[in-house]
Amino acid sequence: MAHHGIHHVTAIAGPARRNMDFYTRVLGLRLVKKTVNFDDPGTYHFYYGDESGEPGSILTFFPWEHVAPGRAGVGSTQETSFCVPEASIGFWAHRLLEKGVAHQAPEKRFGQSVLAFKDPDGMNLALVGIADAEGAAPWASDVPTDAAIRGLNGVTLLVEDAERTGAILTDVFGFRETSRDGSLIRYSGDAAIGGTVDIRSAKGFLPGRQGGGSVHHVAFRAADDAAQDAMVRRLAEHHGIRTTEQRDRNYFRSVYFREPGGILFEIATDEPGFTADEPRERLGQDLKLPPFLEQRRSEIETVLPALA
Ligand code: ZN
Repeated sequence: MAHHGIHHVTAIAGPARRNMDFYTRVLGLRLVKKTVNFDDPGTYHFYYGDESGEPGSILTFFPWEHVAPGRAGVGSTQETSFCVPEASIGFWAHRLLEKGVAHQAPEKRFGQSVLAFKDPDGMNLALVGIADAEGAAPWASDVPTDAAIRGLNGVTLLVEDAERTGAILTDVFGFRETSRDGSLIRYSGDAAIGGTVDIRSAKGFLPGRQGGGSVHHVAFRAADDAAQDAMVRRLAEHHGIRTTEQRDRNYFRSVYFREPGGILFEIATDEPGFTADEPRERLGQDLKLPPFLEQRRSEIETVLPALA
């Protein structure tokens, strides 16, 4: 059965080592893939996720050592959130403090407990307590299993006109509008993780500026090439939007387009997944390169920043 939801979120970070320490040691995510930015192979591309790197669990980063900070604003992603078991919010508030990560007071949004905080680059993150937090197997870190992050919860998008962006979610990506709260509209997909997109209308605010701590794009799931192709046709026929040609990202195949609110969206296939080039038990341990970069491996390894 096809699952409707977010496939991954990709953001921009500062120093690679600091980024890796935060997501693996503080949040307890698995480094699912260590590769390079295929369009800029002198920089890393890190993928964090659950034990097997399920679609919907994946947050990825392009770490640039000397990146300028970004700014949240209209036409950008305001927050990225993860699902945790409802009863673990207290554990996380304590853990973040213990690790020196400031967080806001837990609050209720749409009836759910939310703990908001920032990563070392100022990226807005939140943990959302889910009563029946399913999702695939979480990664076995020093975070107890009954508190571990299950996957992405979703994103909050800030755009001039929520309805126009929402129309893409419902008509193309299989989401439904499920509730409203002031200027915020919630759209839900049927996937257990990565199934929430909140869209806030904000007319007259400053536009966002990409940089450290900014989300670069949000990728939505297509089961396979045929499902992706159907979405591409729907975008053209119903919304007058053209996507890029399909690009092979080794672990999924992608097309990209800018949605009406100005945010870069991607449609990524669930196949082949992160075990395409290394077994599940070794995910993330070695630097993996796509075939077209393999002959440049020693040169690439020399310029990549040290991680230890
Ligand atoms: Zn992507």
